[in-house]
Amino acid sequence: MNIIETQDLTKYYGQVRGIEGITLSVKEGEIFGFIGPNGAGKTTTIRTLLGLLFPTRGSARIFGKDVVRHGPEIRRDIGYLPSEVFFYEGMKIRDLLHYAAGFYPGDHTQRIQELTAYMELDVNRRVDELSYGNKKKVGIVLGLLHRPKLLFLDEPTLGLDPLMQRRFFDLIQRENRENGVTVFFSSHILSEVQRLCNRVAIIREGHIVEVSDIRALQQNSYKKVTVIAPDLTPDSFQLPGVADLRVEDGSLRFYFKGDINQVLRRLAALQVQDVTIEDPTLEEIFMHYYA
Ligand code: ATP
Repeated sequence: MNIIETQDLTKYYGQVRGIEGITLSVKEGEIFGFIGPNGAGKTTTIRTLLGLLFPTRGSARIFGKDVVRHGPEIRRDIGYLPSEVFFYEGMKIRDLLHYAAGFYPGDHTQRIQELTAYMELDVNRRVDELSYGNKKKVGIVLGLLHRPKLLFLDEPTLGLDPLMQRRFFDLIQRENRENGVTVFFSSHILSEVQRLCNRVAIIREGHIVEVSDIRALQQNSYKKVTVIAPDLTPDSFQLPGVADLRVEDGSLRFYFKGDINQVLRRLAALQVQDVTIEDPTLEEIFMHYYA
């Protein structure tokens, strides 16, 4: 079942393009990555899905319901961690969390305790005393305290130290695994998307350029080949399917897409000192899309 479904979703800010023609779907239980550089349209997409922005054209459904017509109902089961978090200054964290929890039915006291302990958040501190990273932690607890079925994370790790980033990822993975929470995760940091997500959409200048399984993206695209051999010349690997060939410090490096046996045959004709053939990192694949 699709938890999110968009059809030609488009948002213009006056004449300025936010996003254009976004068609995608996210299945129940997925951790879906949404990657692109600053200004690509990630936040605009999320805020349109949340019903906080009105689409210029197209439509979106969450839990099978139209986001414009059923916004309040849908939002009850959604958690949202914005990239920038702002709270009422002067409030204690404990009060802020209980105030927010009051908008949802049920008692969330234990859940708040668990989450704040896990994120090492001192609930007696006042919001205006907090560092950026600690505000982010408050945002994380706020996004999760009502046990949402769908979680939107917009650049979630910005401002968190590496230890807390790891803890946060573990928390998200646990929510996904144990409670079946679907996650829509926007980031411009590819390594974290690679670590967490099953599928990924790449957004560029408001348009989706690719939606792919992370594994497939790595396996079906270019291999990265590095060769060290004394009798090597740049012509040794003049083959169709070779891209971005470079000689650096006595080693030759290129990307290759096609029948890998062709590369192996060329290698066999050389006196090879060392060779590696590996999947490119998501970073390198990404550069290819932006080249
Ligand atoms: P970032 O990570 O920098 O927030 P993003 O991928 O989330 O980037 P958006 O913030 O969605 O990108 O911005 C997409 C485009 O829409 C940009 O060109 C941006 O300048 C424009 N934009 C966003 N918000 C507004 C606004 N309120 N008014 C006018 N233009 C806007």
